[in-house]
Amino acid sequence: MRSTTDLIEKIQKIKMEKRAIILAHNYQRPEIQDIADFVGDSLELSLCAAQTDAEIIVFCGVKFMAETAAILNPDKRVLIPDRNALCPMAAMLPAELVKFYREKHPEAKIVLYINSLAEAKAYCDAVCTSANSVEIINRMDSEIVLFGPDSNLAGYTENSTDKRIIPIPPFGFCPVHILFNREEMLRLKEAYPDAEVMAHPECTSEVCRAADFVGSTSKMYKESLRSDAKRFIVATETGLLHRMRKARRDAVFIPAYDEAVCVNMKLHTLEKLYLSLVHERYPVVLPSWVMKKAREAVEFMLETRETPLTKTH
Ligand code: SF4
Repeated sequence: MRSTTDLIEKIQKIKMEKRAIILAHNYQRPEIQDIADFVGDSLELSLCAAQTDAEIIVFCGVKFMAETAAILNPDKRVLIPDRNALCPMAAMLPAELVKFYREKHPEAKIVLYINSLAEAKAYCDAVCTSANSVEIINRMDSEIVLFGPDSNLAGYTENSTDKRIIPIPPFGFCPVHILFNREEMLRLKEAYPDAEVMAHPECTSEVCRAADFVGSTSKMYKESLRSDAKRFIVATETGLLHRMRKARRDAVFIPAYDEAVCVNMKLHTLEKLYLSLVHERYPVVLPSWVMKKAREAVEFMLETRETPLTKTH
């Protein structure tokens, strides 16, 4: 077992030698966030993957995120340090189910949350993230939009558009964000009346209604920089709090539930990241037809808006 300092030095050295870039999602372990070239949400990391001239992308996130980086970079090597980092919510909507709903509702367009399998994306009209779901759905030229796999994000988005949204499957959910509950949120608000309360739209509608601010991890992060509040209650995976605390050392960040941890996101470690760079493992490989079709849906999203990237160092 190598020491942390030793590992950090080795990762930085080999990263330079191989012209690699490390992308880390906001839910990664603190030490992975700290060594990454870019930290962000799915949309920011997709944009970064689309723009980088690095030869190797090491993606510290769950597999669908690394797949999106591969879809946008067919000529680059995209690696994921632990190939078991899968998203249980993405698995709730296999491609066969997307095809089934397409046949059932031929009049509707299909928008998939980026938290979906690459093969499922190949059968949809557009991809979105929690940061741009309203904008993407408003761009669909149909009155009815099928949206999956997160039914909570579907409900949240429907409140902000004139479209009728049908969640596919009807009750898809994130097993981490479903852990927050309204009573606990209200108890925390009462205990800390000066706090600004934030929630991710993957939380239930009751939890979102108890929050002062609802948004993607990038929007919550930006709100924490913008706000004058000195205390925040945050209802999302606890990894985001590390980034917030680094940026706002004058403020206190309280997790709305401290066991809201995505074990899949936390599978990546410094040791695995180092081994990934050394052995160039595990490459993300997708069938060419999936790459082509899913890319059209992802590019539709990327045309929608510009999101500034956040460089960590
Ligand atoms: S936090 Fe939820 S949606 Fe995100 S990767 Fe984990 S299980 Fe999937």
